[in-house]
Amino acid sequence: MDICFPKQQIAIFLDGCFWHGCEQHRSTPKNNQAWWIKKIQDNRNRDTNTSAHLANAGWIVLRFWEHETVDAVVERIKNEVTSRRRIKTG
Ligand SMILES: [Zn+2]
Repeated sequence: MDICFPKQQIAIFLDGCFWHGCEQHRSTPKNNQAWWIKKIQDNRNRDTNTSAHLANAGWIVLRFWEHETVDAVVERIKNEVTSRRRIKTG
């Protein structure tokens, strides 16, 4: 994971548009197209598995695309950390 808040159990991933197959910016190199499609699909499957694994362990998983604005990312992280903190401290 890219950033984590161990106390609040929040895991944050910043996914690259190319490597993780973003819907808006996905592109497949012309050479070895089948290999790239599989490669990116494998990455996506691994992302899904990792998220599921962490969620099962009680973590909140936040995933962001590299094309998202910093403001939007920070805002969502802040909201999650705040609400999680509220739950934890009861
Ligand atoms: Zn993108």
